[in-house]
Amino acid sequence: MRGVVMYKAGDVRVEEREDPKIIEPTDAIVKLTATCICGSDLWPYRGIEPADHQVMGHEYVGVVEEVGSAVRNVRPGDFVVGSFVISDNTCEICQAGFTSKCVHAEFVSQTIGTQAEKARIPHADGTLVATPGQPDPELIPALLAASDVLGTGWFAAVAAQAGPGKTVAVVGDGAVGLMAVLAAKQLGAERVIAMSRHPERQKLARYYGATDIVEERGEAGVAKIKELTNGLGAHSVIEAVGTQESFMQAVGATRGGGHLGYVGLNYDVTIPGIELFFAGIHTLGGPAPVRHFLPELIQLIWDRKIDPGKVFDLTLPLDQAAEGYKAMDERRATKVLLTL
Ligand SMILES: [Zn+2]
Ligand SMILES: [Zn+2]
Repeated sequence: MRGVVMYKAGDVRVEEREDPKIIEPTDAIVKLTATCICGSDLWPYRGIEPADHQVMGHEYVGVVEEVGSAVRNVRPGDFVVGSFVISDNTCEICQAGFTSKCVHAEFVSQTIGTQAEKARIPHADGTLVATPGQPDPELIPALLAASDVLGTGWFAAVAAQAGPGKTVAVVGDGAVGLMAVLAAKQLGAERVIAMSRHPERQKLARYYGATDIVEERGEAGVAKIKELTNGLGAHSVIEAVGTQESFMQAVGATRGGGHLGYVGLNYDVTIPGIELFFAGIHTLGGPAPVRHFLPELIQLIWDRKIDPGKVFDLTLPLDQAAEGYKAMDERRATKVLLTL
């Protein structure tokens, strides 16, 4: 099969890889229908994470081709959406809703690599969720978004306790930030403030439910959020970038007793304890337990109540993955869908 391999930072190739096979009885082989490039794939692309002939990709939808002898919940022919973290969905941590910290958690990006024609998915019963039927092709981008960015944005909004009567501020206008805007709106937030400087992304944020746009960053961004909230700060703040500035902006924009949900993958962010202490806020974040939210999100997409697929603004065949990475690196694209 063909699949993406990152030889080293900035060097992405599509080449022949070995076809995946069932190894454990709990595995499934999925023939992928579509996959995509994630903002987090730019970390190794930019040399911030090491990459040495690394298989790439962790977002995926497709049709089950084969299942191991112990798999019960999905069968060949099912159309499935999977999370970017493998989970059994049965351990105590999963049952409590935190599937990304499952005792069997494994990152799809590290060993499986779904920017490929096929993938072996361990713990298929826990990781994969079948759609109610074969989807219309127009639903594929939305279902693919559920695999990570929608699920991550949704978790961030839940972690920030976005809901009726709340003012929600979203730091970051990448795919996850935009999905967090969608989630905050769906969860019933009264006001959703998107922090963005990018005209196209501002437009999409408004489409997904942003009521206000703030272009300022850092301390000026915090001041602007306070100005819009009677000097109090937002009830719910979502951090979807992962830099020192964006994180401190998110902490500063949260009102006392408010909630901060952080999902921007961050390296080298240091949070001064004293600032967190005096902020007096609730914080919850980490790799999103997407699997926990998948049944609900798939249903919303199936019923056409949400359209997260608009977050993909460039579609390329898998063979042109290198161009997709380049476009995202240069910020010419927010998120790239790869067709198979
Ligand atoms: Zn991702
Ligand atoms: Zn588990």
